Amino acid sequence: MILKRDEPLAPRTSYRIGGRAEYFFIPERMEEVPQAMSYCRAKGLDLRVLGGGTNVLIGDRGWPAVLSLERFRHTDSYGPFAKAEGGASFPAFVKKLADNACRGAEALCGIPGTVGGALLMNAGGHYGEIGEFVKRVKVVEPDGRIVTLEREQCGFRYRDSDLKGRVILSADFEFPEGDRDEIRNRMREIFQKKKASQPLHSHSAGCVFKNPPGAAAGRMIDECGFKGTRVGGAAVSVVHANFLTNDENASAADMLELISRIRGQVKQRHGVELELEIKVWG
Ligand SMILES: Cc1cc2nc3c(=O)[nH]c(=O)nc-3n(C[C@H](O)[C@H](O)[C@H](O)COP(=O)(O)OP(=O)(O)OC[C@H]3O[C@@H](n4cnc5c(N)ncnc54)[C@H](O)[C@@H]3O)c2cc1C
Repeated sequence: MILKRDEPLAPRTSYRIGGRAEYFFIPERMEEVPQAMSYCRAKGLDLRVLGGGTNVLIGDRGWPAVLSLERFRHTDSYGPFAKAEGGASFPAFVKKLADNACRGAEALCGIPGTVGGALLMNAGGHYGEIGEFVKRVKVVEPDGRIVTLEREQCGFRYRDSDLKGRVILSADFEFPEGDRDEIRNRMREIFQKKKASQPLHSHSAGCVFKNPPGAAAGRMIDECGFKGTRVGGAAVSVVHANFLTNDENASAADMLELISRIRGQVKQRHGVELELEIKVWG
């Protein structure tokens, strides 16, 4: 296993924000994952898994112990079935699924990060979510046991699951069979819509807040007049108000202050407590 000390985390996130990891584990074999976990337990270190870093805001002081599954990137797709390891690139996996005529893949395009992150977050959008297609997930439990969970045990729901606290090693999927050209065309369409409505070239973590039932967080934030508002180097995107961007060396403190102002104003104007979609470490 590779163990790095004082590893900078900001370059490993799409926000480009965050301090260093005191311990940064890169297991090379599956059995090394529980080993890293028990090492951290013995030292009293809170170990977190970092996937593509596209849905996390890491604090300016960093995090004591971080584990990366970057050596576990294998994917396979045969007929309607597919397999992927937790550290595999989610966009590359989705492309493979589309090439293999897996219907539903089109709904998952334009989501960066890894397969592990996508499963934990039940990534998706208007058109569908990854959890719908899961058969089973192999995880390491907090006590170090490697177990396989059936889909029903994963608790997939809107941008959430019961996989928290576990390390997602790999998963098996099953998709309905579709028409490859239709899937590819639909994928292009969905991606064009995303390109037109999201600041895809800025440093962001996607939507910061979950949509409250029956409402759109972005619209509420926009109605409070936040588009373009800045705190230090952090800004509310003028393209999509639920995307906060790191425009000029923003700190996590800048981003958290902006988040807190938005929450306060939305609560005052709409009477709604916005819930974070992104994970804040620190
Ligand atoms: C431009 C942009 C567009 C986006 N669009 C969408 C979208 O349309 N729909 C959507 O749902 N999301 C979207 N996102 C958010 C993000 O891409 C997804 O949530 C993604 O699935 C996160 O994956 P990740 O590997 O980057 O996870 P990370 O950000 O690294 O981690 C997210 C959480 O998952 C945990 N985690 C990661 N890997 C594992 C693992 N192997 N085992 C256990 N826990 C793990 C982390 O500890 C953390 O709690 C977007 C982000 C960006 C930047």
